[in-house]
Amino acid sequence: FRAEVRRLRCRGVEPRAFFVAGRPAHGEGELTVTHPYDGRAVGRTTLATADQVEAAVAAAAGVADQAAALPAHARAAAMDQVSRRLAERAEEVARLITAENGKPVKWARAEVGRAVSTFRWAAEEARRFSGELQRLDTDPAATGRIAVVRRAPRGPVLGIAPFNFPLNLVAHKVAPAIAVGAPIVVKPAPATPLSALLLGEILAETDLPEGMFSVLPLPNERAAELVADPRLPVVSFTGSGPVGAAIRRSVPEKHVTLELGGNAAAVICEDWASNEDLTFAAHRIATFSNYQAGQSCIAVQRVYVHEWLYDGFLPRLVASVQALRGGDPSDEHTDVGPLVSVEAAERVEAWVDEAAAAGATIEVGGRRDGATYPPTVLSGVPADAKVCAEEVFGPVLVVAPVESDRAAFAAVNDSAYGLQAGVFTHRLDVAFAAHRALQVGGVIIGDVPSYRADQMPYGGVKGSGVGREGLRSAMDDYTEPRVMVLTGL
Ligand code: NAD
Repeated sequence: FRAEVRRLRCRGVEPRAFFVAGRPAHGEGELTVTHPYDGRAVGRTTLATADQVEAAVAAAAGVADQAAALPAHARAAAMDQVSRRLAERAEEVARLITAENGKPVKWARAEVGRAVSTFRWAAEEARRFSGELQRLDTDPAATGRIAVVRRAPRGPVLGIAPFNFPLNLVAHKVAPAIAVGAPIVVKPAPATPLSALLLGEILAETDLPEGMFSVLPLPNERAAELVADPRLPVVSFTGSGPVGAAIRRSVPEKHVTLELGGNAAAVICEDWASNEDLTFAAHRIATFSNYQAGQSCIAVQRVYVHEWLYDGFLPRLVASVQALRGGDPSDEHTDVGPLVSVEAAERVEAWVDEAAAAGATIEVGGRRDGATYPPTVLSGVPADAKVCAEEVFGPVLVVAPVESDRAAFAAVNDSAYGLQAGVFTHRLDVAFAAHRALQVGGVIIGDVPSYRADQMPYGGVKGSGVGREGLRSAMDDYTEPRVMVLTGL
């Protein structure tokens, strides 16, 4: 009843505007956003109508030439302004992320901090993104020729984002688009549109030309129509594998990047053997298998431990997991909050039950409570159990002993995914061996796989995706080389 009263109160709140060609707009129907922790309504918006979608796409296509010609100083100034405004409104944005996504407020603040730096870095990249000059006179017949390679925007970008970083993953699409001078249409996740709409407010304060960006809440079927629209030649998708694969199949002629799921692994190598080493690794792995309740594509899901270290490592891991504080994500001290929905927690529960029925031992764990699932460590898990082989996207960790570092690398690779891996070693030769052997987009030495910085190419192989994000990589992706050959020089 209390939840219903809160919901009704929230109905009195004005729905948040979305953005069509840079202008605030209201559409049809209603999208009520609820707090995953207690189900209360925390905000409202409406869905874009067919006419509004058409207006957004037509404006993006119409402004594309003007956008491509925007001087670097104008693109950089807009990104610097967005970065500053996000920093000024940081606490408000973080609270909004916690309310719609349920992640603990300390992690929501970290997300805002990342978005602040994403836009600042985008401004810097916009200032230096220049293409290249190539000499052609290596061939006597081409004496006097050079090639000027300019990177031209491919055209308007469609950015589709998931729920788990509702601000940052939108920032990772918007910032590189504006940095290269490409208009962008963003479709946020239905469960978490509010922070993307707030970002829209901040973008609307800039001097970017009208049509440069739109943020459109839409149901999935209508998003599929946007994917098919030929006026949006670039699709940048972050989300689950099946949806990503369907998008790629549906528009083979488009330039599609897919940032998909993973079941990231960490390896404790033979040399990572001191008490301090094991305590440090246990703490980092416990933290980053449970941050955001495991709902990160690079949360640690599997740990392979050299067998001679296993008995020393496991109790430390269990102790570190037990030290995590669960509870209300608005509380400053909460480490682990709810999953995004009751259904998501029920799925995780079913997968853990399935592993236990197949012989796995629950080293630490507990009972589901609504959308909250307790941090859980499993050992003795068959390799084909879903908690090991699929993306669990919940606070569940599978730990296993391995007879050698090489066997650990093989176990990491025995996966349909390949996003990132963490390798705990002090040895440079082992680091290079891991870098060579592991079939992933990134290897983090001396830490968990859950590290990402905007400077680095970020993305996966196998079922984890196609293409790379990271500002520079995305800017390359959103543009194509256009060569001019000068003769007679
Ligand atoms: P999801 O695939 O359900 O949804 C992602 C987005 O796609 C949402 O905006 C959704 O509305 C939209 N969508 C759904 N069906 C669509 C369709 N037919 N056409 C167009 N758009 C459609 O994913 P989710 O549950 O929101 O997010 C979790 C997934 O995202 C996990 O698998 C996670 O690993 C992945 N993820 C990957 C990365 C990465 O960088 N690799 C980062 C974060 C999350």
